[in-house]
Amino acid sequence: MADAQYILPNDIGVSSLDCREAFRLLSPTERLYAHHLSRAAWYGGLAVLLQTSPEAPYIYALLSRLFRAQDPDQLRQHALAEGLTEEEYQAFLVYAAGIYSNMGNYKSFGDTKFVPNLPKEKLEHVILGSKAAQQNPAEVRSLWQTCGELMFSLEPRLRHLGLGKEGITTYFSGDCTMEDAKLAQDFLDSQNLSAYNTRLFKDVDQDGKPRYEVRLASVLGTESALHSEMTSRLKSYEFRGNHFQVTRGDYAPILQKVVEHLEKAKAYAANSRQEQMLAQYIESFTQGSIEAHKRGSRFWIQDKGPIVESYIGFIESYRDPFGSRGEFEGFVAMVNKAMSAKFECLVASAEQLLKELPWPPAFEKDKFLSPDFTSLDVLTFSGSGIPAGINIPNYDDLRQTEGFKNVSLGNVLAVAYATQREKLTFLEEDDKDLYIRWKGPSFDVQVGLHELLGHGSGKLFVQDEKGAFNFDQETVINPETGEQIQSWYRSGETWDSKFSTIASSYEECRAESVGLYLCLNPQVLEIFGFEGADAEDVIYVNWLNMVRAGLLALEFYTPEVSSWRQAHMQARFVILRVLLEAGEGLVTVTPTTGTDGRPDARVRLDRNKIRSVGKPALERFLRRLQVLKSTGDVAGGRALYEGYAAVTDAPPECFLTLRDTVLLRKESRKLIVQPNTRLEGSEVQLLEYEASAAGLIQSFSERFPEDGPELEEILTQLATADARFWKCPSEAPSGQA
Ligand SMILES: [Zn+2]
Repeated sequence: MADAQYILPNDIGVSSLDCREAFRLLSPTERLYAHHLSRAAWYGGLAVLLQTSPEAPYIYALLSRLFRAQDPDQLRQHALAEGLTEEEYQAFLVYAAGIYSNMGNYKSFGDTKFVPNLPKEKLEHVILGSKAAQQNPAEVRSLWQTCGELMFSLEPRLRHLGLGKEGITTYFSGDCTMEDAKLAQDFLDSQNLSAYNTRLFKDVDQDGKPRYEVRLASVLGTESALHSEMTSRLKSYEFRGNHFQVTRGDYAPILQKVVEHLEKAKAYAANSRQEQMLAQYIESFTQGSIEAHKRGSRFWIQDKGPIVESYIGFIESYRDPFGSRGEFEGFVAMVNKAMSAKFECLVASAEQLLKELPWPPAFEKDKFLSPDFTSLDVLTFSGSGIPAGINIPNYDDLRQTEGFKNVSLGNVLAVAYATQREKLTFLEEDDKDLYIRWKGPSFDVQVGLHELLGHGSGKLFVQDEKGAFNFDQETVINPETGEQIQSWYRSGETWDSKFSTIASSYEECRAESVGLYLCLNPQVLEIFGFEGADAEDVIYVNWLNMVRAGLLALEFYTPEVSSWRQAHMQARFVILRVLLEAGEGLVTVTPTTGTDGRPDARVRLDRNKIRSVGKPALERFLRRLQVLKSTGDVAGGRALYEGYAAVTDAPPECFLTLRDTVLLRKESRKLIVQPNTRLEGSEVQLLEYEASAAGLIQSFSERFPEDGPELEEILTQLATADARFWKCPSEAPSGQA
């Protein structure tokens, strides 16, 4: 059996992305717009296979053929008849689902390879005896011969993404080293070309001198006669004695399909900004121009608060070992009109609700300004993985001049927190059902309060460049000391500049605390539609979840350097500490032993003490947080915050030991099943799938109903055309089947 690090476990969590309500509330035109953008995103996402490993396109093609001929249930019958155990077949389904959701055989988070957790010979039997193989014996056999060995190989260099001898990547030909990557970057910089949509291929000419091909992603090839801003760039260059050739046409047939659907989407755009944005993206993908993508992104930033939001292109550079080439991604998300209405109600009640917060009116802004916050439900997210939020564009020059968008992806967050009962760690048995029932609703309440009234509340005391104060020095009293205000922000000083390393975590902690505090308010719960016993359950689960999240947060603490890697997680741990400190048995964290005999733990929250013990403790803490922030008291703020954030093994909790338990019980990253949209007449239908590996596979089997086989052909042809760049003569194929 393979090392657990390089497989996906059979019981991996699989959740469905729920966007039904948001989709239902779209107008017919909005649905058409969303549909064509989704098509563009899904087509473009296939490019990621070519951006990951040499074998990924073949694996994708092979799996797609298998499951087109037989659905997961039918294939199962065949597999069991071939002698696979149920576990082995499940392992294969999980592997296939993993390939689809990562768009390749390397995990999008962590960049490690994953292999099928069953014997290779058994999988070979299933594949070669499948209906797909009966229909097209030569093709299926050839696909298996091309990728079977690499599918299973855990040769050290193939275990993770990396450059040269460090790992595998298809952003660079196999013989490129970090020096080549640096040289190419200098060349690109010298020509004012962006690396975002490029790959680098190194060759050797007749004299043994290296030649580099910088290949841009585009529909058009190098031979195109049409003139554009790009054509003059497509030529040979001498750079520091090296030969560089700029070409284009990478992923051409795939981008062609992207462009076709962007053209169609343009007809349903909600405004001229969206039209111009799409026109520029089309130009970018057709010509290979990042400048055009930047122009499109400029229109995108200006298109504030659209009902259907999207972004598409070569965006995130995490997976390029050099960090400058973008992986294709495309997403389509929708405003959840029902949820937005609730958030608007919250904003409308802000003035009144802010008075409930435990600080004097002088510490509140003169006028409430609703923070720029959008929560969207994702309809489609193509590429190698789905983030819970986005903050784009990544172009630094645009971010400075035009700004960016900061969007929370509500239904992705909900999936991240939804867990099957049997995987719900650290809770008492009798809390689990309640937790599962109310987790989603309480999460909505907490997000709304956190973002709008949390980040939106509180005032900073400032003295401007002319010496004028934005508060009354005579009358404003610090409630902590009973004295006048002694410190404030001088002209040019900001929250971030003063509190630097703790600024973001401290602020997240303040916002989370505001959420916990204000969710006790009946008016807030009424806005979200909860009353009576339901409202009490929402409160309980919201608090219980925070306590559990505080424990889970320990995963993001690094004891070796005594530091937190994640501001939000640190903030939750701090709140857990504050509630533990409240005493009187409000919260307890107890180490236990699991049914497997290994360490486990339980968190417990006494729901009868939330108002009597929890609320006053949170009130004191929140007031101190706000006062120290308002007055710019860095020393006081650090002492308070870092005190709570310290992780030690001191009894009774022994957090360092608990951290080991948290790591031991950590759930592996979930797979997410996404819906399809289908045009029927002039109406767009939403097709949803079961939350299982089989459901995820089914969603991909139905993703390209018109041209699935053609796409697989395209992908393998593109991969084959470049295959020589990753065939290392020194590493002869080992035991080719
Ligand atoms: Zn926040």
